[in-house]
Amino acid sequence: MDVDIKQVEFAYGDEDFRLQIPELKLATGSHTAFVGPSGSGKTTLLRLLAGITQPQSGAIQIGDHPLHTLSDSNRRAFRIKHIGFVFQDFRLIEYLNVRENLRIPYRLNEALNLTAEVNTRLESLANELQLAAKLDAAIDTLSQGELQRAAIGRALLPKPELILADEPTGNLDPSNKSRILDLLFTQASVNDATLVMVTHDHALLDRFEQVVDFEEFHKKEGANV
Ligand code: ADP
Ligand code: MG
Repeated sequence: MDVDIKQVEFAYGDEDFRLQIPELKLATGSHTAFVGPSGSGKTTLLRLLAGITQPQSGAIQIGDHPLHTLSDSNRRAFRIKHIGFVFQDFRLIEYLNVRENLRIPYRLNEALNLTAEVNTRLESLANELQLAAKLDAAIDTLSQGELQRAAIGRALLPKPELILADEPTGNLDPSNKSRILDLLFTQASVNDATLVMVTHDHALLDRFEQVVDFEEFHKKEGANV
């Protein structure tokens, strides 16, 4: 799915932080990196793209869907069906094992059916993520890198058309880092998904066709007088 953002403005309550994005387009199947200092709004924009939060003004169109016009519950259903979000803090559920965590989207949306094909795909995804031996393990027994990979697996299993990954290689050692990046890119291309990834790792940037630097969304104060 392609993404088209126009004249988006967002602020949290009365905080000073403001995100202003005149225009941003992500083509279907493209790979975009979000870079910029901590606090510059990278996670906030991922949350806007996922419909977790709503802009104060402007339009966010994802494929045929004008996200800014949907109700909370319709945005949520849309997100679970079409978007894979890899949260920076994983958001795994402690009392479920790894396998059940990967299946969570299928429990949340009746439009996703937990078929035998999905279970087979779960096993092969777990293999690629080097989590096969951990599928029955409790979340609190996993290392940081394993948690990261489980969060990635949960995001990818429903074959999302838009993958939003918030620093998904931040907790991985160098060899896992390049494998996981390969996996994200491969999975994205198999499904012709659009990939957006927040990263601080400038060595990775030449893998992306588009790099969005968040400095450009905060120029305004006194800049255009
Ligand atoms: P980044 O991901 O680039 O580090 P964020 O999007 O997380 O930046 O945060 C942008 C700004 O918004 C920061 O100043 C942060 O403190 C603030 N912020 C983030 N989440 C919230 C929230 N839920 N409520 C209020 N302020 C927030
Ligand atoms: Mg962030």
